[in-house]
Amino acid sequence: MLAKDFAKTVVHDAETSLTVAISPCCWMYPNYPFQIQVHIAETGDHTITSKKGLSFADATEADVDELVASLSIVRCPRCQSPMFERTGNEAHNPDKLCSKCILADLNEQYEVAKKKAEEKQQKEDAKMKAQGYTHRINARIHPAATGDDYQVVMYASRRPTNASMKAQLRKLGSEVFDDYFITKL
Ligand SMILES: [Zn+2]
Repeated sequence: MLAKDFAKTVVHDAETSLTVAISPCCWMYPNYPFQIQVHIAETGDHTITSKKGLSFADATEADVDELVASLSIVRCPRCQSPMFERTGNEAHNPDKLCSKCILADLNEQYEVAKKKAEEKQQKEDAKMKAQGYTHRINARIHPAATGDDYQVVMYASRRPTNASMKAQLRKLGSEVFDDYFITKL
């Protein structure tokens, strides 16, 4: 029987080594098939694989080796780094990229959205300033017990005091009176 903390490193090729560990679920839960977690040491890409009909108690290192040998390692179509082949239907990953490339895309989308929101805000600020407003207030409304917090944007023609902010936020149904920031236009 293997130790629960059995681990080994398998050299796949000159650039790729695999670190292998036992998935705790296969010794924690009865009737769970023997399962291992494998990481590509160089990139952090990971996968899990299991052997149906084999229990943790009956598994040997030869079973580990067999599972590792059955893994297919390919190159990310974009960055060419080694990754486990994506065999499932990943709707969010139609190009079957590696995790790092997916993350980079998400970050980029986030930055674009953030920049758009900032530009929109600047336009609105300029418009309000032209109308005589001097301050923008971004506040978070925390409604009583039920209901989620939400964001409001207000403009004022002079810097609001703590007391006037408290009155305003109370009027909007908030139970928190200091969750806001004021920006001079
Ligand atoms: Zn990649």
